[in-house]
Amino acid sequence: MYSIPKDGDIVLAIRNVMARYRAIRSQRELRERVEQELNFGGGTYHVSAERARRLAIISGVAKLKVWTRATGRKGTIKECPVCGETLITSRNMTIFGKTVTTGYKCKKCSYWTEMDNIRLPSRYEFHLRKRR
Ligand SMILES: [Zn+2]
Repeated sequence: MYSIPKDGDIVLAIRNVMARYRAIRSQRELRERVEQELNFGGGTYHVSAERARRLAIISGVAKLKVWTRATGRKGTIKECPVCGETLITSRNMTIFGKTVTTGYKCKKCSYWTEMDNIRLPSRYEFHLRKRR
């Protein structure tokens, strides 16, 4: 049986992990380090890679670098595939004076995509955010 940690405990673990390693090269590595941190001294906490990633972004503890790849597919998406935030549309004015939606961007993280060639995240890096 796994135990499910609280958001606050995960954020604290991410903070410690980032302070120690400064840079984490993948979301899998983040998950592993966070679980190690949470289970230090014995424990069965389980965190999904996606939850660790989202909490790292939402809490502002880590600065994120995202690589995306174009899928070649058209589509509409409402939620940011990186952080879960509602996406805003980017619009362009056509020569006829109409506005058309050409893509989406996230105001929480750096994710953006075109509408007729949806980009999806393929790799993540997490960097320690320096305190101001
Ligand atoms: Zn986002």
